[in-house]
Parts: sequence; structure tokens; C-alpha cells
Amino acid sequence: MHLRKRVLVTGGAGFLGSHLCERLLNEGHDVICLDNFFTGVKDNVVHLMDNPNFEVLRHDVTFPLYVEVDEIYNLACPASPIHYQHDPVQTTKTSVHGAINMLGLAKRTRARIMQASTSEVYGDPEIHPQTEDYWGRVNPIGFRSCYDEGKRCAETLFFDYRRQHDLVIKVARIFNTYGPRMHPNDGRVVSNFIVQALAGEPITIYGDGTQTRSFCYVDDMIEGFVRLMGSGDEFTGPVNLGNPGEFTILELAEKVIEMTGSKSELVFKELPHDDPRQRKPDIGLAKRELGWGPLKKLEEGLIPTIAYFEKLAKVIR
Ligand code: NAD
Ligand code: UDP
Ligand code: UDP
Repeated sequence: MHLRKRVLVTGGAGFLGSHLCERLLNEGHDVICLDNFFTGVKDNVVHLMDNPNFEVLRHDVTFPLYVEVDEIYNLACPASPIHYQHDPVQTTKTSVHGAINMLGLAKRTRARIMQASTSEVYGDPEIHPQTEDYWGRVNPIGFRSCYDEGKRCAETLFFDYRRQHDLVIKVARIFNTYGPRMHPNDGRVVSNFIVQALAGEPITIYGDGTQTRSFCYVDDMIEGFVRLMGSGDEFTGPVNLGNPGEFTILELAEKVIEMTGSKSELVFKELPHDDPRQRKPDIGLAKRELGWGPLKKLEEGLIPTIAYFEKLAKVIR
């Protein structure tokens, strides 16, 4: 039997946040889903709304928040390049002011707090695969910097609140994650390719498609979050969470075409600024400390993801 906890999930109406809210409610917790609905949508959580333990709060984390909670998962922040570059100043504010407010809240309530950090803190890495002790190679003044440097500063704040105020903090460095409820227009590679393949439109490969990414299925990621939050007070991370299976973008395109039975062709477009060449997590630390590793292979995770976008296409039509 779990003790019922009061849990705040910021960014709770987003892709990862909505899956996390669902998981926490299934465990019997009392969940506050906070969101300003910039990239998140009510549709992601509407199926949870008749649960009396669920509450949706329209709020922006850059402003203070006074609620009484036991745990905070801080996920609020647009995650896809087109969204976080839409209003870059707001992106940095969300990461930095958002972290300060949520840490202030954690300090007052003595709540445990987890930060959704990112593999982007490693920038375009010289070390492969990336381990947590690698400090990264990040451009401080480029188009991706609002996101990367905002997330790096948030990590700094988490560790300073730990040192100065003795908070129980957890920092997860999340690598590319995919699954149902990804936003169909947010420009991320898995959603883009599936949407294009289903519509029979050309698949857009940026650059020559030889850059690599490692893709983790959403349920595996949520399991990682919950285990991290439940880990001993002394374990702070940062800890990589991701699937070490590494694929070129071309390989992903071929898989999606094959699995959707699409006749889409490939078109090559310009590579975005500062696009990392390769990315793959070393998850040794997560294995040792959390007993965690991803269970779903890319092909397995693509099945429910494709099914989700097929259903969505029917609703939109
Ligand atoms: P998402 O865009 O679907 O979710 C982010 C949520 O935060 C949205 O619901 C959005 O409306 C909300 N939000 C944005 N700014 C806010 C603000 N100022 N106040 C309140 N709410 C705000 O993205 P996601 O993929 O679910 O990502 C969740 C978190 O995980 C983000 O912090 C992201 O940086 C991190 N992350 C995700 C991935 C990934 O592959 N999905 C990889 C690395 C890190
Ligand atoms: N804060 C908040 N909710 C709380 C407590 C604090 O949003 O329950 C905000 C507060 O407005 C402040 C920030 O968190 O701007 C940091 O709080 P902290 O106590 O660390 O700093 P201080 O208030 O001393 O500047
Ligand atoms: N990408 C692509 N076509 C698309 C969308 C993305 O080739 O339609 C590439 C992109 O340039 C990057 C990789 O796929 O190299 C992953 O992009 P995404 O935006 O999903 O995540 P991130 O770059 O943040 O890892």
C-alpha cells in the first residue's frame, strides 16, 4: 500500500507530464497538474478529470505559487526546438524563474523536487556516449541556447538549493523520448515522420540524415522519473534517462515508412543551427542507483505511437 502523497506536476498537460499525472493517479496519489497551456493541451488530461484526486491549475511557473505538497516534478518548459525558439526569452525565464519558484516552494514545504533536465546540457558532445560527469559543449549565444543554458542554470539552482538549504533534489537528464500525446505539429522528428508518412507527404530529413539520436518510449521514461523520486535522499543525480539504442535519422525514416506502409519519399532540407551530430546516453548510473533501464525497443514503441497519430488524423479529418 502506498501512502497517498500530494504531488505537483508542472507542465502536467504536456506530453510527458500527462503520462506522469496518469501514473501517479493510478498509484492513488493526489495530483495537481499545473500548466499554462503553451504547448500542453487539455485533451491530454481530459480523461483524468473525473478523478477526485486530480486537479488542473492554469498557472505560469515564472510566477510564485503557494500550494501545500509533498513532491514536485518540475517539467514545465517547451521541449521542441520550434516551440522553445518561438519566444526564447520566455523559455529561459520558464527554466530559471520557474526553477527558483519551484525550489522556493520546495524549501517552504520541505517537498522533494525533481527537475526535468535534458541531454541538451551536453550540447554537441565530444564524448560518446555521454556520461553524467561530462560538462558539455554548449553554444551560449546560439538559437538553442535559451533552452540549453536555461536548463543548465536550472541544474545550478537545484544544486545550490541543496547545498544552501538542504533540499532533497533529483535531476534527470532526459534523452529524446517519444510516444502517444506528442504534439503533432511540434516539429520533433518522431512525430514529424509519422504524421508525414501517414499523410503520404514527403519525409523531411534535415542535413544528410547521418546524425544520430537515441529514442526512449514514454512509459520507460515515466518509470525512471518515479524511481528517481523514490530513491534515497542522498541520491541527487544528475542521472541520464534514455534508451541507449542509437539510430541515424535516415534509419528512423526508413523504419517509419516500413511500419506505416507509406509511399512517402525522402526530401533533404537544411540542417538546423547547432544540431548535435550524435547523441546516446550512458545509463550505467541509472542502472546501478535506480535498477532502471528501458524495456521497449524502438519498433515496439513505434506501434502505439503510430496508432495514436492514426486516430488523431481521423479526428482532425
Ligand atoms: P511539452 O511541450 O509537451 O510539455 C511541456 C509543458 O510545459 C506543456 O504542457 C507546456 O504548456 C508547459 N509549460 C511551458 N511553459 C510553461 C510555463 N511557463 N508555466 C507553466 N507551464 C508551462 O514537452 P515534453 O516533451 O512533455 O517535456 C516535458 C519536460 O521534459 C520539459 O521540461 C522538457 O524540457 C523535458 N525534456 C523532454 C524531452 C523529450 O524528448 N520529450 C527530452 C529532454 C527533456
Ligand atoms: N516561492 C513560491 N512559493 C512558495 C515559496 C516561495 O513561489 O511557497 C517563490 C518566492 O516568491 C521566491 C522564490 O520562490 O521568489 C524563491 O524562494 P526563496 O524562499 O528561496 O527565496 P526568497 O523568497 O528568500 O528570495
Ligand atoms: N529532424 C529531421 N527532420 C524533421 C525533424 C527533425 O531530420 O522533420 C532531425 C533534427 O535535425 C535532429 C533530429 O532529427 O537532428 C532530432 O530532432 P528533434 O527536434 O526531434 O530533437 P533534438 O534535435 O532536440 O534532439
